[in-house]
Amino acid sequence: MDRNQAGKRILELREILWINSRRYYVDNAPTMSDFDYDHLMRELEDLEAEYPDLRTPDSPTQKVGSDLDKGFAQYPHRYPMLSLGNTYNIGEIEDFVRRAEKELGEARFTYSCELKFDGTAICLTYRDGKLFRALTRGDGVVGDDVTANVRMIGNVPLSLNGSGWPEEFEIRGEILMPYESFDRLNKERLDNEDQPFANPRNAASGSLKLQDPKEVAKRGLMCTLYHIPAQSVAFATHSEALDAAASWGLPVSSERRVVSGIDGIEEYISYWDKQRRYLPFATDGIVIKINELDYQDTLGYTAKSPRWAVAFKFQAEEALTRLVSIDYQVGRTGAVTPVANLSPVQLAGTVVKRATLNNEDFMSQMDIRVGDWVKVIKGGEIIPKIIDVDLSRRPDYSVKPSFPTVCPDCGTPLVKDSDEAKWFCPNIDGCPTQIKGRLVHFLGRKAMNILAGDATVDQMYNLGLVKTPADFYSLTKAQLMMLEGWKDRSAERFLESLSASKAVPFERVLFALGIRYVGETTAKELARFFGDIDSIAEASVEKLLDVRDIGDVIARSVHDFFRVPKHIEEIARLKEAGLRFSVEEPATSSDSLAGKTIVISGNFSISRDDMKRLIEVNGGKNSSSVSSKTSFLLAGSKPGPEKIKKAGDLGIRIIGEEEFMAMIPSPGPTKPEEKTEDDVEPTLF
Ligand code: NAD
Repeated sequence: MDRNQAGKRILELREILWINSRRYYVDNAPTMSDFDYDHLMRELEDLEAEYPDLRTPDSPTQKVGSDLDKGFAQYPHRYPMLSLGNTYNIGEIEDFVRRAEKELGEARFTYSCELKFDGTAICLTYRDGKLFRALTRGDGVVGDDVTANVRMIGNVPLSLNGSGWPEEFEIRGEILMPYESFDRLNKERLDNEDQPFANPRNAASGSLKLQDPKEVAKRGLMCTLYHIPAQSVAFATHSEALDAAASWGLPVSSERRVVSGIDGIEEYISYWDKQRRYLPFATDGIVIKINELDYQDTLGYTAKSPRWAVAFKFQAEEALTRLVSIDYQVGRTGAVTPVANLSPVQLAGTVVKRATLNNEDFMSQMDIRVGDWVKVIKGGEIIPKIIDVDLSRRPDYSVKPSFPTVCPDCGTPLVKDSDEAKWFCPNIDGCPTQIKGRLVHFLGRKAMNILAGDATVDQMYNLGLVKTPADFYSLTKAQLMMLEGWKDRSAERFLESLSASKAVPFERVLFALGIRYVGETTAKELARFFGDIDSIAEASVEKLLDVRDIGDVIARSVHDFFRVPKHIEEIARLKEAGLRFSVEEPATSSDSLAGKTIVISGNFSISRDDMKRLIEVNGGKNSSSVSSKTSFLLAGSKPGPEKIKKAGDLGIRIIGEEEFMAMIPSPGPTKPEEKTEDDVEPTLF
């Protein structure tokens, strides 16, 4: 690869890694496996090592992935919180040991071998023996203050035992979600038609960033601690520091071992490679650290990780099973994905029945046939994946699958997207699965948060009531009553939730439009940067590239979306319906709640944050606890029993969402700005 090609590939890799880093750390919804991510990161590291002048300080190879979230106060870390160098290859662990021996010369030193806990990093500060602050890793320099949430985790002591702890010190570790809590949480989420978490790591970090500590308490998180920054305490070794922490009542893993050379390290790795499946929580490898703190100091740090530690990552777990059949699923973007139906097999703590086959090229590279025995992996994986076919066990009756040439849903001939090696159904406006997928996405909790699931959308679509999101806003009660099982109350609740959706902030409306590659975070960035939909629609690809974390692929996708007349018509209809298309305050603002102090409790058809905003823009004041000064308690579904009781005791009126909505002006469209003669009409087509 020449310098020019390397430069191009470096930019491409950075963009892919940035996008996936956000999905992983901020959205807690990764779409790529850790193995693939690490592989691309290694490719970028190698290219930057070959062309050092192309390395920039903002490259993902030079910075830890950031989990910072605007919803939390942020504080600086006293010592940076870094990542760890990692490898899947035991030969590279041997290199690490050789390098340490060379650099430390004749010195005698040992290694602390530990489990690599697969959760989210946390830094606790104890002051005068009491838990003072808990910060996430953030961007390594500052972290989010999640103290109130960490206080809710059962095994984090609020006060220390014993003696000898420094007046103030930091201790770092991981917040984990044990498998048992993870399974329970995902079951609840599925029952509530919420998207389940992909793995316990994402569930742990998502839970740690909840705004309601009481909700965190219900999530069944646990903490394990594995590092006291050497500057914080006066011990000779890392293991002594951790022993002391354990004696103060802090949760420190008892599975760590101090060994003296590569043999000890390899023994520890091979033991835990098998035994880890009996642990009640997820681990994704082993961490090896130089145990003597003076020698850690000698070896020092790179920009991103300590030189005195390395992680050996386990390959994902695998199992052999039979491929029973293949389904071809059409997504909301029209992409056709082959999904394997498997003989159920136990893998990494769950029973696996389905696995992705990626695309047609992937299937032909493996020469996969229905009836074959296939190797399935799962681990850091998001969904199980078939990685190999056991040709020695291929039965005579195996059948070569033929990738469909027409859409399995609407029969339209498929077209190939050369960039993605995927087949697409081009019938965007006629293919029922795509249309319904877009409608379901629009209604989703993180989008417009309208009370209806897949089954309702199915019915509405089949009855010809809706085809595009704007159709929802012209549904009448009589039409809704045509739906199977719908009564007066269900129709009213749906209409209320439609009406409440008009207060949903612009960034979520933008996300709801379902523009390809525009997830929640990108929608937020776009809304923040441009302020309103017309400015986004007008923006050139170059201008879109100025937005943080937006690269070529996303910029082109956004630009193309606004060049389709149907999309512009749909946006005009949604504007007409009263949805918010700018970041300005909604036109509902009034002083109808002036002088009123309101406490909210429970869940509503809009998010609690949106409800609080509605109160504020209509002149009211939010308060978190019921007192004699409270004007009324606004109760949604499942309100807090204590608040209800207190309101009852004090004789405070309790009202529901419907009554509340009637007290404020109905959310309407934002008032268009007066045009001046200098204003130029935006060219949209
Ligand atoms: P990492 O998870 O590979 O390793 C560093 C972390 O390990 C530390 O920050 C700490 O939180 C944790 N850890 C667990 N046990 C430990 C112990 N005993 N001692 C010390 N640390 C311990 O690194 P990272 O920087 O947190 O994340 C990078 C990794 O995240 C990547 O290698 C990749 O696998 C994954 N990732 C995946 C995606 C994706 O799309 N799948 C995106 C971004 C990152």
